[in-house]
Amino acid sequence: MCGIVAYLGAKEASPILINGLKRLEYRGYDSAGIALLNGGMHVYKTRGKVSDLEGLIEDKDLSGTTGIAHTRWATHGEPNDINAHPHTSPNGKISLIHNGIIENYAILKEELKQRGYVFTSDTDTEVLVYLIQDIYEHEKTDFAETVRLALSQVTGAYAIVVLSQENPDMLVAARKGSPLVVGIGEGEYFMASDAAPIVEYTRQVVYPGEEEIVVVSLKDGLKIMTIAKTEKTPYIQTLELNLTALEKGGFPHFMLKEIYEQPRTVRDSMRGRLNMEQGLVVLGGIQDYTRKLLNARRIIIVGCGTSWHAGLVGEYLIEELARIPVEVEYASEFRYRNPIIFEDDIVIAISQSGETADTLAAIEMAKAKGATILGICNVVGSSIARASHAGSYTHAGPEIGVASTKAFTSQVTILTLLALMLAEKKGSLAASRYYRLLHELNSIPEKIEKALKANEDIKKIAEIFSKTSNALYLGRGINFPVALEGALKLKEISYIHAEGYPAAEMKHGPIALIDAEMPVLVIATRKGHYDKMVSNIQEVKARKGVIIAIVSEGDDNVESMADYSIEIPETDEMLVPLLATIPLQLLSYHMALIRGCNVDQPRNLAKSVTVE
Ligand code: GLU
Repeated sequence: MCGIVAYLGAKEASPILINGLKRLEYRGYDSAGIALLNGGMHVYKTRGKVSDLEGLIEDKDLSGTTGIAHTRWATHGEPNDINAHPHTSPNGKISLIHNGIIENYAILKEELKQRGYVFTSDTDTEVLVYLIQDIYEHEKTDFAETVRLALSQVTGAYAIVVLSQENPDMLVAARKGSPLVVGIGEGEYFMASDAAPIVEYTRQVVYPGEEEIVVVSLKDGLKIMTIAKTEKTPYIQTLELNLTALEKGGFPHFMLKEIYEQPRTVRDSMRGRLNMEQGLVVLGGIQDYTRKLLNARRIIIVGCGTSWHAGLVGEYLIEELARIPVEVEYASEFRYRNPIIFEDDIVIAISQSGETADTLAAIEMAKAKGATILGICNVVGSSIARASHAGSYTHAGPEIGVASTKAFTSQVTILTLLALMLAEKKGSLAASRYYRLLHELNSIPEKIEKALKANEDIKKIAEIFSKTSNALYLGRGINFPVALEGALKLKEISYIHAEGYPAAEMKHGPIALIDAEMPVLVIATRKGHYDKMVSNIQEVKARKGVIIAIVSEGDDNVESMADYSIEIPETDEMLVPLLATIPLQLLSYHMALIRGCNVDQPRNLAKSVTVE
């Protein structure tokens, strides 16, 4: 998500900052801004690209040797000029840039409002800079300590840099869960989301740890302390990386970067929504519609492509856990077949971009017939988000690879949270299962991390099968849509023809395709129709078929039957899609790469399908 850059030194800050923002453009963003100290605080920001910001500041006085700059990827409040960063305190003396999510911003905002503060933006970020001013005025302590006190009240994820007019020769930064690197030059300091904006000036860097505050001062140098107020000795490293390697966060392709981001993006989708202390799921955007959902005649999920697959996983989740009837429809079919829609139907629209033309048209039609519309989108303020009555953002951050990866797992995460929230309210789940599921879901990011460790083995399997022209993907129950998604990913980026099927359907046709050449991918994890999947594997083997099995850790039984197997950690059956998807994404990636395909921009495909 987004990019931050800061400079403190003797040079003019603005060219360094703007150049730095350009180096971070690859991360994706929707608005850009800059704050410079030159006597007073000068803030310029706009929706759009860094080039739009350049246009805005063209005729302005940009002198100043201290400043901060930001490219925003909206999470709270739509992308517009006001919500763009930096955000400034009400007295105009403190400016702040932030990457991440302040989970408890609503509570903090309410408290500050009661003390008379008036907010101008819809962001979570503005709350933090107001809180810093409030503490600075009341506690009368030094500025770094003020920031520390403010952060000790904040839950969530952040990398921030704070600029203070009253402390012009210092910058205060901090991080928790979001990236930040500090560059040390000769009498100057740089800060950024990654080293790309820094390496051309210095190779001496410090990577602050979790929950650490960094203070750089022209007088006192660099100091690090934790939010709990323990001093730390900065560990200065020399960067070996060159600029090209830094692009895409060091990964050769956006798709691989985004696959590897999933432990974090799934965590971000749950952030502030999964409350482990109280054993509750709170989907703020949807909360007011809980009654309607519980009393719905049925839920109709609409989407296209990967989002449609996420919808299918959602059907299994909501029906199994919350016992509410669900139908899943291709948005394109739904909109044109004059469907019967009741006023007590709820339509959930899923779209990464929030601009998918068919999905948008489908919800407009359902809305006209009186249904309630909930949106699940990644892009804040997108058309579908605006056309919905309510919804939840996935918070996966910008997805640049055309083939969707992290957006899928974050959509599934939101649907899992929704199913659990409804199950709890309805009492449709035994308390023990409900709490077990909450715990399992909370540990899914670490398990995704573990699943990613199979990458090298998957690469070897991809080398063996890279010349195949067909592949069959089989799964049962909640893993059937995972088979569909695995097949789609392979088709999209490697151009290999692949089909996903419910495993039991194999006998009704696809079994005729089985031979010693075509790989048959099976999702055969211990939880969920295990014995049935084992029978399907044997049916394939009896016809001399080749099996690549996704199995639970340590399952020697399936491993001995399969030609190749890939292990994923054990989890509840309902959460297997969040893990089983990972090796299938990696397999498609490696197959495509070996075949020399353009993995990030496959032929004929567009990222956001805004035409029907
Ligand atoms: N949550 C903040 C916002 O929506 C920061 C988003 C970002 O990381 O760019 O403004």
